[in-house]
Amino acid sequence: MIFPIFKYFNNPANSNSFEKFEGICSCCNQKQGWRYIGPYQCNESISDLCPICIASGDAHNKYAIIFNKGNNPEMSHLSDEIIAELVQRTPSYQARRFEPYETRIFNWITHCDDACVYYGYASIDDLNSVRIEDRAGIFNAKKIAIQYWDWFLSEVPNGLLTDFSSEAHHFRCLHCNKD
Ligand SMILES: [Zn+2]
Ligand SMILES: [Zn+2]
Repeated sequence: MIFPIFKYFNNPANSNSFEKFEGICSCCNQKQGWRYIGPYQCNESISDLCPICIASGDAHNKYAIIFNKGNNPEMSHLSDEIIAELVQRTPSYQARRFEPYETRIFNWITHCDDACVYYGYASIDDLNSVRIEDRAGIFNAKKIAIQYWDWFLSEVPNGLLTDFSSEAHHFRCLHCNKD
């Protein structure tokens, strides 16, 4: 299977939203070699979805499954098309500290009137390159005071605090390349 391209999710085969899988996809009944293990919301429990059925919208059409939130205020200026792509056909990302995954779908980051592309956990280099004026925004989301930035960096090898109390995810704007 060739992994489908997701407009807003970079390199999904290398993310922790999918894993190799020898069984049959519950939607297309094919052996595709991978299944989705990220968060979702659905009236039924769907454990063996292949990436192709997510990208095509078949999984959404069949199960009314959604993968991301489409109704938070930050997204109100996005077109219906963008929201449908995110909610219906874009895998979500794992936050390791939350369970069960089905009930935890997250807000997507937006910029330049579009959804940003998800690049996985932020690396220490990503965090080091955040401009000083942007650091407060990251911390506001995390509710950590800005004076703890250096501590935060020291505690976040590969975007994940060692005690799992916080984590940083990397998004990039499709239009201006802002991270
Ligand atoms: Zn499938
Ligand atoms: Zn932008």
